[in-house]
Amino acid sequence: MSVRPILTLGDPRLRLKGLPVDSFGKYLHELLDDLAHTMRDAPGVGLAAPQLGEALNVAVVEVESRLFELVNPRIAKSTGEDRDLEGCLSIPGFAAYVTRKERVWVVAQDRRGKRFKVSGSGLLSRAFQHELDHLDGKLYIDYLDSMDELIAVPASDEAAETEAARAGAPGTEDEGKVRAPALA
Ligand code: ZN
Repeated sequence: MSVRPILTLGDPRLRLKGLPVDSFGKYLHELLDDLAHTMRDAPGVGLAAPQLGEALNVAVVEVESRLFELVNPRIAKSTGEDRDLEGCLSIPGFAAYVTRKERVWVVAQDRRGKRFKVSGSGLLSRAFQHELDHLDGKLYIDYLDSMDELIAVPASDEAAETEAARAGAPGTEDEGKVRAPALA
């Protein structure tokens, strides 16, 4: 298990669509382990294989200490809408408000190929949608009308200091800085 470099915006490999996985052996298991390790090191709430330069339909999501290993995932059903700040480990230092489905049901396979279904709302739902977009070569900035919508966010070690600001009135940004969103 190792921490691997995360590709950043501009690397064409982020735009490749993930290929379906049909082999559930050692290579996949090492990739899943590396994804989880790299995500936790960042830290983030999700990471997709294309972010490590692997064009495969594989991603991990971890919210509230629950780790989901998603192989060949797809969204089976979704409801509602939720607009919140979203960031990406491949676009460090920035975030933007993105409208997502409030709840999604994801069908995927585990590391042994066994099919399972999971539903999530709020941050978990957002992380699922963000990672599945990565598997389609898509980034959250694709939803923005203009790059002017990007907001500079503090590094994660400053996040705690801005938590207080989060409790205050939304929209009152301190010199353009807002709370650091969860990254995926
Ligand atoms: Zn991302």
